[in-house]
Amino acid sequence: MTSGRAEYIWIDGAIPTAKVRSKTKIVEAGEEMPIWGFDGSSTNQADGSNSDCVLRPVMTKPDPVRKGSNDLLVMTEVLDTHLEPHVSNTRAACAAAAAKYADHEMIFGIEQEYTFFKGVRPLGFPDSGYPPPQGGYYCGVGDDEVHGRDVVEAHLEKCMAAGLKIDGINAEVMPGQWEFQIGPLPALEVADQLWLARWLLYRVAEDFGVNATLYPKPARGDWNGAGAHTNFSTKEMRDDYQACVDAAEALSRRHKLHIANYGHAIEERLTGLHETCSYTEFRYGVSDRGASVRIPWQVHRDQKGYIEDRRPNANMDPYVVTRLIMETVCGGYTE
Ligand code: ADP
Ligand code: MN
Ligand code: MN
Ligand code: MN
Repeated sequence: MTSGRAEYIWIDGAIPTAKVRSKTKIVEAGEEMPIWGFDGSSTNQADGSNSDCVLRPVMTKPDPVRKGSNDLLVMTEVLDTHLEPHVSNTRAACAAAAAKYADHEMIFGIEQEYTFFKGVRPLGFPDSGYPPPQGGYYCGVGDDEVHGRDVVEAHLEKCMAAGLKIDGINAEVMPGQWEFQIGPLPALEVADQLWLARWLLYRVAEDFGVNATLYPKPARGDWNGAGAHTNFSTKEMRDDYQACVDAAEALSRRHKLHIANYGHAIEERLTGLHETCSYTEFRYGVSDRGASVRIPWQVHRDQKGYIEDRRPNANMDPYVVTRLIMETVCGGYTE
């Protein structure tokens, strides 16, 4: 076969939380991926009277779902018809910040938590009432504690086959809740790959008849929310502990700005309970999972490394979160 199927993936204009969309273009083997278009009036990105939006490829990977040797997954960014970044395009500003602060060689590792749903209930929740309280589910094993492992394993396999830098998976605290980690990579790469990994998650889950959601508080009550802890380091931090502390201090100065941009419904998740610090406060500490920012114990022991921003929601936009961290940590804000 000399032609293949290119799945063009983009981020829509849905409010309050954008989601991924995709459609298929037949391409010739070896062809450079061309720009393409779509109907922005169906994705909250344009009016019907002026509906065209443009897709520009930013990252191409082998397609582990279709598996043909010429099949591809094409992550794109959305442009307007003047070929300028569309208003919904958060990647362009991330690219600008990454270029501006390139000297710091910042890298990010993002822990993406998510929850499977079967119909209107989290996977593993009975039709009525609740499963046993949290305690045994995190990194658990056994049919009574683990729900959806076959989907998770299939997703992991696809991420690896696509050549993504996925560095682990684990079952989470609430039943039906899981995590994968992407990174460490520079801002644009980690964000492009995270969006692609999210698309693969939704796509793989389809085949199992379940639905993955990034909603940050999928079950009310005494159940953990879903976050996207964002671990990061500059080259200074990878060398020097004081630089790690300075980065946490810098984040403290722009707490409100970060909270306002770390995902819709963050106040539902950052309550101060369930391994979170309230969104109204900023605290950092060594090994502290009740803090806004955690300094891992190995980092304290080694006196160098990275820190973990625990505030971002599962439904955050990684282009926005990594951009803000670059600007706040490298930008020298003093108040
Ligand atoms: P947790 O204990 O919080 O569950 P995880 O193992 O899930 O931690 O995630 C740790 C993340 O930190 C991984 O994504 C990893 O890639 C990332 N990481 C490790 N070292 C660095 C570093 N020097 N800079 C940035 N991120 C890092
Ligand atoms: Mn983790
Ligand atoms: Mn986790
Ligand atoms: Mn974490």
